[in-house]
Amino acid sequence: MMNAIPFNKPHLTGKETKYMLEAVQTGKLSGNGEFTKRCQQFFEERYGFKKCLLTTSGTDALEMCAMLCDLKPGDEVIIPSYTFVSTALAFLREGAKVVFADSMKRNPNLDAETIESLITPRTKVIVPVHYAGVACDMDKIMEIANRHNLLVVEDAAQAIDSYYKSPMTNYKSLMPLGSIGHLAAFSFHETKNITAGGEGGLLVVNDERFIRRAEIIWEKGTNRAEFFRGEVNKYGWVDMGSSFLPAEINAAFLWAQLENLDEIQSKRKSLWETYYKLLLPLADKGYFSLPDIPEYASDNAHMFYLILPDLDKRTALIQHLKDNGIMAVFHYLSLHSSAYYQDKHDGRDLSECDRYADTLVRLPMYYDLEIEDVEKICKLISVLYVK
Ligand SMILES: *Cc1c(COP(=O)(O)O)cnc(C)c1O
Repeated sequence: MMNAIPFNKPHLTGKETKYMLEAVQTGKLSGNGEFTKRCQQFFEERYGFKKCLLTTSGTDALEMCAMLCDLKPGDEVIIPSYTFVSTALAFLREGAKVVFADSMKRNPNLDAETIESLITPRTKVIVPVHYAGVACDMDKIMEIANRHNLLVVEDAAQAIDSYYKSPMTNYKSLMPLGSIGHLAAFSFHETKNITAGGEGGLLVVNDERFIRRAEIIWEKGTNRAEFFRGEVNKYGWVDMGSSFLPAEINAAFLWAQLENLDEIQSKRKSLWETYYKLLLPLADKGYFSLPDIPEYASDNAHMFYLILPDLDKRTALIQHLKDNGIMAVFHYLSLHSSAYYQDKHDGRDLSECDRYADTLVRLPMYYDLEIEDVEKICKLISVLYVK
C-alpha cells in the first residue's frame, strides 16, 4: 500500500518559531503587541478592510460580530443551515432567534433568492457563509439588506484571499470577501489556508460606526485601546466585552504565514486545478459533480469537494479511498437537523442543505500535498468508476 495521505496537514513556512521566539524576547507576551499590529495592518492594507482585530478563533470573531449587532431577545438572524455550528451559536448566545435558510442548487452557499421570504419585522441580520471560500451572491444579499435596513455579517472563515466580482462591473472589479458586509469574521484554525498556530481568527469592521465598540468588546469591555493610543488618560469599564485578543506568540506564528501567503495560495491553487482537470472527464460522465465557481466568484483553493449522486455512492467512494490510505471526509450535517436544534426547528423544508450533508465529500487539500499525490488520488477515483 502506498503512503497514507491525510485529509489535512498544517503547513510550516519555516519562520514561525523564529518569530515566536522574537515575541517572547520582547518581554510582552499578552495581546495587541507588535506582531498583532503588523498582522492587522497587513489585512487592512492588502484587502482594504477598514479596521481589523485579531481574535483567538473564528468563533470568537463571530461572537464579537453578534455582540456588535446589539440584538434584543426575539430578534431574528438569517443563517444557512449548511455551515459550521459557530455561525449559529454566536447569534444564539446573544438571545437571537436563528432562522435557517436553504442552500443553492448549484453550490452549498445560502440561496439569496429565498432570503426575502424569510424576512419578518424582527429580522436584524443576514449571515452569508462563503462556503469553500467561494463568494455568495453578494450584490443580491446587500441589496435585500439595504432595502430592509439589515446588517450583513460575512462568515469568511474559509475565504481568505478570495474575491467577489460584481456583475455590475461586468465581473471585472475584485472585491475581497470580508470587505462587503458591515462586519466579517475569518478563521486561522489549522484546517484553514493559513493558521495562527492552531487556533486564531480575525474580526473585520467595514462600517466605521462599529469600530470604537469593537475595540472595547475586544478588550474586556474597557477603553484600553484608546488609552494605549494616548487618547484618554486612564482606562476603565465602559461596556460589555470579553477577552478576545490572542497572545503575541500566536500573532507571531500568523505573521510567518502572512509573509508567505502568495506562495501558499499559488501552490494550493495548482493542486486545486490539477484535481479539477483530472476529474473533469468523470464528472462529464455523471459520476459526480465538481465544485461550482459562479462567474461572480473567485476560487481561493480552500477546499476541493465532489458532490455524489447519493449517500450510498458517497460512502462507497470514501471507503474505497480509505482502503487505499487516502482520507476523504464528508462535511456538515445540516444545523436544523442537529441533536441540539432539531426540536427547535420550525419544520421548513431545507432539502438542498440535507442533500449536501449526504452527498458532499472533501478530498485531501494542503500545501505539502504534491501534484503527484493528486494524480494518484484521481487515478484511484477513476478505478472505482471505469472498470
Ligand atoms: C472554521 C469555521 C468557523 C470557526 O472558526 P474557528 O477558528 O475554528 O473557531 C466558523 N465558520 C466557518 C464557516 C468555518 O469554516
